[in-house]
Amino acid sequence: MFKLPEIPYQYNALEPYIDEATMRVHHLGHHRGYTNGLNAAIEGTCFEGKSIEEILKSIHINQTAIRNNGGGYWNHKLYWQIMSPEGGGLPVGDLFDAIQRDFGSFETFKEQFKKAGLSRFGSGWVWLLVHEGKLSICTTANQDNPLMKFVDCIGTPILGMDVWEHAYYLKHQNKRGNYIDDFFNVIHWKEVARRYDEVKQ
Ligand code: MN
Repeated sequence: MFKLPEIPYQYNALEPYIDEATMRVHHLGHHRGYTNGLNAAIEGTCFEGKSIEEILKSIHINQTAIRNNGGGYWNHKLYWQIMSPEGGGLPVGDLFDAIQRDFGSFETFKEQFKKAGLSRFGSGWVWLLVHEGKLSICTTANQDNPLMKFVDCIGTPILGMDVWEHAYYLKHQNKRGNYIDDFFNVIHWKEVARRYDEVKQ
């Protein structure tokens, strides 16, 4: 059975960028819903007892319940970890050099990441990926993610930004761009850099 992952800070810790009410309902409502839905969807199947990564890497496109709930479970688990009250500022370590190498500058990366978030119609996610040491940006719909083999993003996600309205609507209403600007103030670059170091070659 998968358990609702804990958030390593208080619900109000990301204020004023991400508000407490949003954090609370996002975690206890949405993320819990995906976690329960995942458990229900794998019960009695060959996926029981497998890791979430194994499950997401092996499912087919038409396994809708596991795709949506398993994706939701994994995506939000990453999302809580790559944000921090001590976040924001510039990327650190080798990741900073890699961002400059692959995007030209941090500012260009930021622009492209924001543009990707604004251009994702409806609900979805924006990812920073590593493939053979190289960084790229990719977006997916709904709760899909780059671990799923039918999604055309190549690489391991090290940063994920939720652009579902439930991630920002209470505070930012329809202004997704303002939410994205605020998200940059809470990105936990130390954690993203740690993930980069794990998969870089
Ligand atoms: Mn969400």
